[in-house]
Amino acid sequence: MVYSYTQISQYLRCPRSYRYRYLDGWQEKETRASMVFGRCFENALAAYFRKEDCGAALFKEWEAYRDALFEYKKGETWDRLLHQGIHLLETFARQDRVRIHDPHNDLQIKESRTLGVGSEFVAYLDAIGEVDGVRCLIDWKTTTSRYPEAPEGLFSLDPQLICYSWISGIPEVAMIVFVRKHAPEVQYLRATISEEQRQEYGRLVETMVNQIGAGHFNPHSGIRFPQNGCMSCPHLGLCLHNDHLVAANLVRKPGASNLDWLDELVD
Ligand code: SF4
Repeated sequence: MVYSYTQISQYLRCPRSYRYRYLDGWQEKETRASMVFGRCFENALAAYFRKEDCGAALFKEWEAYRDALFEYKKGETWDRLLHQGIHLLETFARQDRVRIHDPHNDLQIKESRTLGVGSEFVAYLDAIGEVDGVRCLIDWKTTTSRYPEAPEGLFSLDPQLICYSWISGIPEVAMIVFVRKHAPEVQYLRATISEEQRQEYGRLVETMVNQIGAGHFNPHSGIRFPQNGCMSCPHLGLCLHNDHLVAANLVRKPGASNLDWLDELVD
């Protein structure tokens, strides 16, 4: 069995949802424009570091979805997302705070770790490079609102960064956040992950994998703040036995669980 950060975090959120997704094969339909755009944008970033025309790369990637039946947030359109992306790429290039010395080897880096007999944990790091002259592992995010920056050190608590630091052994981490708003903004959020945090994450993975192996998939249901996970859960229709909701949000792909670590490529 191959595990990934996405799988572990989904199990932590709700083991029942994990079972629907990874054992029964119920996947969320890819209908959110922002999610697909984020993937196109990351490919354009890779083109930027390879010293190619990143604006043209973004257009080419995103153009494939011009007529797709996506859900756009209020005020968003295919054109608007493209223009925001181009502005963000220009801002990022002008600020010139991130260096990737070997873009052919230091982008989308596969890391893996053996967990036990027949089990492996796989992660894809977005990049390893320098942010403001400090070598670190880098995670790109596209979003519509700024990430909080205070109090200092906040991002050392980000579970995805801790996971990637655990699997790579690199303590210095950075999240580069591309904020799609009227005046585009790029945030450069750095943190240091301690050895203790890495060891704790390793123990967390071990515990989760043991529970999955033992077939523990009890629901962690919640519909009221702050535990309202069911309200944004794609598997809500299955828990409510509501066929209409299931058909609207899910597609079933049984037998694909061995390829689920590929989620990491789009996460
Ligand atoms: S709807 Fe709620 S209980 Fe059901 S899988 Fe989703 S989060 Fe879990």
